[in-house]
Amino acid sequence: MSGPLPWQQAQWEKLLARIMRGSLPHALLLSGRRGIGKHHFAVQLAELLLCSENQAEPCGRCKGCRLIAAGTHPDLKQIEPPEDKQIIGVDQIRELTHYLSLTALCGGYRVVLIDPADCMNANAANSLLKTLEEPPANTSLLLISDRPSALPATIRSRCQVINFERPARDLSLEWLRNQQPELDLQIAETVLELADGAPLRAADMATQGAITQRTEMLDDLEKIAAGRCDPVEIAKKWLKLGKKESLYWVYGWVVDMVRMKFASPPPYIANADVAPRLSKMAANIELSLLYKRLDQVSEALRLADNSSLNAELLLEGVLIGWTPRR
Ligand SMILES: [Zn+2]
Repeated sequence: MSGPLPWQQAQWEKLLARIMRGSLPHALLLSGRRGIGKHHFAVQLAELLLCSENQAEPCGRCKGCRLIAAGTHPDLKQIEPPEDKQIIGVDQIRELTHYLSLTALCGGYRVVLIDPADCMNANAANSLLKTLEEPPANTSLLLISDRPSALPATIRSRCQVINFERPARDLSLEWLRNQQPELDLQIAETVLELADGAPLRAADMATQGAITQRTEMLDDLEKIAAGRCDPVEIAKKWLKLGKKESLYWVYGWVVDMVRMKFASPPPYIANADVAPRLSKMAANIELSLLYKRLDQVSEALRLADNSSLNAELLLEGVLIGWTPRR
């Protein structure tokens, strides 16, 4: 992934224009929900600033570009919480201040990434404030945060804020399926939904075994429908896998089964890879009953965000509907 992500084009072009005019703000605060690509954007910007060719894209050949590619550019500094901690402490910021008091080693720009910036404790933030008030020349400080409101107002007010909104769903889906061409459409849609529309987070979820999990859950549902499994036990198991994830899968399967009732084969189904299995289940259920189950799972999905409800009962309610009628 080189260059800004497809949904970051507007922000990128604005910044590019400012760089070309020589009026890049010394501190930027990149904000937006987790997994939307803020870090990626910051890295792209760093690469551009550290390229000595001063063009709209890094040249890939100069010393700066080569050092970036090797991961050893001395004028790029990334600050994050130490591995065993959740916070960025004052020592890390003091070290940064000292580093910034020295001359840039490659003689050009210096770029600092602080991610997540909202992890700075009060002392660290205070210490950074001094740098933001008297910024060194040719230095770009890039603060990244999912929760900019958690940063002191004094820090926020000294940064130019660049906000990233949730990208359009179609754009995210297209990107996701370009990244992972083997990804089934329903899985892509589901992980995107679960990631609250953040494409990079969705991509992570998709690689973390969502596909295996879905197959296993379809096995469970088939067993319940065949009367070979206790829905209460399965509800317990699914709860551990995630109640919303579980409900989204069931929802997608039922929608496909309804499609199968209307045309054989239907012009489109989301779970094409498991179509024969879904078709077999659909053959044993009347359409009116499928609609009832669709209502049931939709209602459960609607209620899933309500933390006061018993999630296990919610899943049980959906699964018991699938047990064979005597
Ligand atoms: Zn270059």
